[in-house]
Amino acid sequence: MNEEKIQVLFALSECVPFAKSGGLADVGGALPLALNRKRGIRASVIMPQYSTIPPQYLEQLEHVAHFNIKVGWRTKYCGINKLVHRGTTFYFIDNQDYFYTDYLYGYGDYEAERFAFFSIAVLESIPYLDDKPDILHCHDWQTAMIPVLLKNRYALVDTWRNLKTIFTIHNLRFQGVFGPSLLPDLFDLERILADDGRVGNGGALNFMKGAITYSDIITTVSPTYSKEILTQWGGESLDYAFAERKDSLHGILNGIDNLTFNPEKDTTIAANFSYKDLSGKKICKAALQEEAGLPVKPKKPIIGMIGRLTSQKGLDLVERVMNDIMHEELQMIVLGTGDRRYAEMFEYFQKLFPDKLRAYITFDAGLANRIYAGSDMFLMPSLFEPCGLAQMISMAYGSVPIVRETGGLKDTVNAYSSETGKGNGFSFAYYNAHDMLYTIRRALEYYYQYPDEWDIIRLAGMRQDFSWKVSASNYVNLYRELLI
Ligand code: ADP
Repeated sequence: MNEEKIQVLFALSECVPFAKSGGLADVGGALPLALNRKRGIRASVIMPQYSTIPPQYLEQLEHVAHFNIKVGWRTKYCGINKLVHRGTTFYFIDNQDYFYTDYLYGYGDYEAERFAFFSIAVLESIPYLDDKPDILHCHDWQTAMIPVLLKNRYALVDTWRNLKTIFTIHNLRFQGVFGPSLLPDLFDLERILADDGRVGNGGALNFMKGAITYSDIITTVSPTYSKEILTQWGGESLDYAFAERKDSLHGILNGIDNLTFNPEKDTTIAANFSYKDLSGKKICKAALQEEAGLPVKPKKPIIGMIGRLTSQKGLDLVERVMNDIMHEELQMIVLGTGDRRYAEMFEYFQKLFPDKLRAYITFDAGLANRIYAGSDMFLMPSLFEPCGLAQMISMAYGSVPIVRETGGLKDTVNAYSSETGKGNGFSFAYYNAHDMLYTIRRALEYYYQYPDEWDIIRLAGMRQDFSWKVSASNYVNLYRELLI
């Protein structure tokens, strides 16, 4: 262990501002920076050098080293380049065959090969890095084979012997499942590891199962989700594996980047505001109604909904009672991409209720912020939610969340109680469309009939600290625990 600082290397497949497809990139772009503000920690990041990284960053890359590595029987070029961004060192693994594509992720066995290459490259790069890591912090299936390779091959050699690993699960649905013959073919590891279940599940090679077996510590992105994955319902067929590692399993809530998501400073919204002065929010609401082509009515509540249009996000429930929702005294603005079925459902209702619903079937970060800022309520009735960032962002912007009590939603949204005067939103427990509808109606009742209490709820959300500070401290505690 480094005498002065614990050195942590984040290995991940996407990271803001270089490449993003989802929440993982937000974590990669914010958590290492928050860790570097803590005493005794130095965090850096290693990721693939995709050709889609914005040119202003690619142009600044500094070459560190290059060499050949073996991916099973294949010999492949591996370049390491680096960039210091906002005080944090980012290393990029370069191989044009694998990463000069117009997509971040593809399909099939080639995907296994791309991330086998990346995992081997991360371990082979360690002797060339400025700061030798004490801990490798791996994320999701794309880097799940790093702990497997480390324990089965690399730890036999001094350079890697004392390295510790943490594996964080952001999305358990994608596990990296392939045919078992790829284990010797890509990793030079014996197929028996897949067949006997150490790196396999049900006869298939399963990258994530390998990380669960071999990582020193496993984390998920919220405390509640870390319990849900121990159940058959939430475990995505790996619940038994988590149960075996229960003592090493932790749940640490994600934060949000309070530079990007801050209504006091956000330059993409019509007017700035804070919990001390909400007058700007009224301007944002009117601007949003205008932009969406809805009647500009200050008193009419707007429900916002932003996210992937998939069944994970509770769209089945919305579809079931959409007609009832449209008959309430409200407006609704939806922004999302995903399953056609849900996109068409929203488009259908938009035609029927043009004065009430506006559905944007696209990805638009600026519009997302305008919806967070202009809406009064935010609907997120997820089936499961490892953490969820959207509900935290909505609260920061004074849009009261209506959520199902699952995963990170349960950990961040507390149902308001008139008796205690405490709570920052509305929630329901069972995955049931009419429970959701009832909860929306309850929120409307407070909005219309108890405006003083509505303000209490809204301000409770706005005042909450969703920054990375607390989460970063929790990770630091785990790192220290590992190196004792
Ligand atoms: P997940 O990672 O499961 O997709 P999260 O709530 O953790 O869900 O994070 C989603 C992030 O992506 C949020 O910042 C949300 O605002 C943003 N987002 C999702 N869909 C869109 C979209 N269509 N346009 C703009 N931003 C979006």
